[in-house]
Amino acid sequence: MAILAIAVPVPLRKTFNYTYAQPVELGVRVQVSFANRPLVGVVVGCVNSIDEIPLEQQGDPNKYKPIDAVLDDTPMLSQSWLSLLHWLASYYQHPLGEVVQTALPNALRKPQSSQPTLINVLALSPTLQAINVPGNDITQTVPFIHLKRAPKQFALACFVAAKTQSGTVDSLTKDEVKQHFSSALINALIKKEILIESQHQLTSGCWFDRVGAEHFAHIAELPANVEQSVAISGISAQLNQFSCFLIEGITGSGKTEVYLQVINKVLQQRQQVLILVPEIGLTPQTVSRFESRFGITVGVLHSGLTDTERLVVWQQARLNQIGIVIGTRSAIFTPLPELGMIIIDEEHDDSFKQQDGLRYHARDLAIMLAQKQGIPIVLGTATPVLESLHRALTGKFQHFKLEQRAGNATVAPVHLIDICQQPLHYGLAPATLDVMQSHLSQGNQVLLFINRRGFAPAVVCSSCGHVEDCHACDKPMTYHKTQSRMVCHQCLAQASAPHHCSVCGASELITQGIGTEQLEQGLNELFPQYSTIRIDSDSMRGKHTLSQTIEAVNQRKHQILLGTQILAKGHHFAHVTCVVIMDVDGALFSADFRAPEKLAQLITQISGRAGRADKPGETFLQTTQPGHPLLQDLVNNGYGHFARFALHEREQAALPPFTYQVILRAEDESPQRATQLLQFARHLLTNMQNISTIGPVPCLIEKKQTRHRYMLIIQSPYRNLRQKVLDTIIDDYAKYANKLRVRWSIDVDNIDFN
Ligand code: ADP
Ligand code: ZN
Repeated sequence: MAILAIAVPVPLRKTFNYTYAQPVELGVRVQVSFANRPLVGVVVGCVNSIDEIPLEQQGDPNKYKPIDAVLDDTPMLSQSWLSLLHWLASYYQHPLGEVVQTALPNALRKPQSSQPTLINVLALSPTLQAINVPGNDITQTVPFIHLKRAPKQFALACFVAAKTQSGTVDSLTKDEVKQHFSSALINALIKKEILIESQHQLTSGCWFDRVGAEHFAHIAELPANVEQSVAISGISAQLNQFSCFLIEGITGSGKTEVYLQVINKVLQQRQQVLILVPEIGLTPQTVSRFESRFGITVGVLHSGLTDTERLVVWQQARLNQIGIVIGTRSAIFTPLPELGMIIIDEEHDDSFKQQDGLRYHARDLAIMLAQKQGIPIVLGTATPVLESLHRALTGKFQHFKLEQRAGNATVAPVHLIDICQQPLHYGLAPATLDVMQSHLSQGNQVLLFINRRGFAPAVVCSSCGHVEDCHACDKPMTYHKTQSRMVCHQCLAQASAPHHCSVCGASELITQGIGTEQLEQGLNELFPQYSTIRIDSDSMRGKHTLSQTIEAVNQRKHQILLGTQILAKGHHFAHVTCVVIMDVDGALFSADFRAPEKLAQLITQISGRAGRADKPGETFLQTTQPGHPLLQDLVNNGYGHFARFALHEREQAALPPFTYQVILRAEDESPQRATQLLQFARHLLTNMQNISTIGPVPCLIEKKQTRHRYMLIIQSPYRNLRQKVLDTIIDDYAKYANKLRVRWSIDVDNIDFN
């Protein structure tokens, strides 16, 4: 009889012992009954006798239950993944069972035996396949000649024929083909019996053998400029060992080209590559750039996939059937047995940090993974976070700078427009309207950034001054005119737009402040001769809307683009020569010490979206604080200078990255109970050397969904010490929280105080 330690997905900080007739490999999924519920757990320990289990983990052997079923023939999680997950659980103080579950795709979290993964494949019909041999030009055969009247179908047939001619592969995955041809075309050729579709069982293999070494001899690269060459040769010289590289390169400096050239070297070593990108950056354009460079199937993982689609990519990666995986945050959990390099593009992006449950940072986890595997990791951005910059400046990361735009384009200078005492039209100052007009009349495009969705951030009664609040959050609700609704941007509660004040009944309600909807209306009024397009999460619903809109912008169907954060990420607009940034002064006065850093990143990223060689751009920032030292530094000296100075200030103030923080949050309908829990934690930490606490204080989002939110900030100059201290208090703390029935969470290396 074997005793198995099972990581069960429950919020308890321990594993559970079960029995089974014979030993089970670690990393295999099993079905167990837990509190009378069937759950999927993962075997993380297996011994033959209770004497091999440490006393404190033994529990009562008489209560060990047999597991209900073994779900996998082979481990779904490798030994090295399990050890990384143990690290993850302890670093982020999160229950191992939940961490292990996070690492599995949804489809494997259900109590079902793993089925062979089936993928749809396409091949030439058997008769065509028989004559599609090297030396024989199949395009000259009758069925192909007939096809020439339908050039797209002909191209598709040639594509499949060319890829399957050498005989190493006799079929292509349908996904691979769909990246180049539409489903309608594929179906047309299936109907004509030129192609046949079938299902293949995914087995372990080697993606490299499918394409062959010869394939890589024909990959065309751009001739790298001097700065790019330094980075490429520096990284290439250190493959097969752990090192972390930071590429600090202005937007358009050719970072992606550097990634592509070093990835090429890794692929040629028959290894796999993982690329993480921010959610919104994952457009078809990004993926197609990698695909067209290497001509191999790229596994794509993002939040829009179904469970089955996700599982297929996960299994293809695990079985070494694909060489490249590109994905957003959770793609870090893709098992890649031959992983040779990790790239984190736009490493500053907040979307890499999970903000609920297991609050991990994908960048930090990636660095740990690279270290364990002994492989390089490359972080790239125009605006490194101060944590990364600090490590680069102190030699922990190797640092490359790309300061020239590839192809001689220049960076847009930033100008401040003072809006104090100015008559504003829809939030726009006369000087702003002038520069917009001048760029538009030269046939160029203008991009406006505003941080607020909706029509107006508040509706106020002009008679009694009452503001329509969200009852659950005590915050003004945003008026969305198109849907005629009030929406709480914090908890997403909705109500219909009011016609009368809910307190005094007066019917004169006025809106305060400006959101994207109102600005759109204003721009249509102010610039009726130009087409304005709004790009925010309300207007960009649907899978392809964003990429279609961006294409329309690049085809100059619109002249004025206005939008939110979405515009700051990844996309490049060659015809935009004027960028206007509105309404960001709030960040200058925020209680969050990271607000200036985030603001500087935002301004730099947005201004980087514009211009190209023959059409340099310029950025205008409307502000009531033109003399503010942060803005002055950024405008005059750029992000790099600003960031180095900001680091100096952080050091003076003993803030991260010079100290390590963690925050405990507590939420409850009773503010007293929430603070009582945090006081308890604070009490546990008193008189500990080199550990300091701040709080309990309200979180920056003080109330959400009727719960009052408080936090205790814990900091230490030593990362290890912080870890040790958390290890010692966490169980008592969790117990006390249970007793008080207060909701709580722990956020190690928090990136905000919300
Ligand atoms: P980044 O990732 O830093 O924003 P990209 O790699 O996307 O920059 O490069 C910006 C543009 O410059 C792209 O159109 C790219 O094709 C081009 N480019 C990059 N490197 C070179 C080079 N060495 N020579 C010519 N063009 C280049
Ligand atoms: Zn609310």
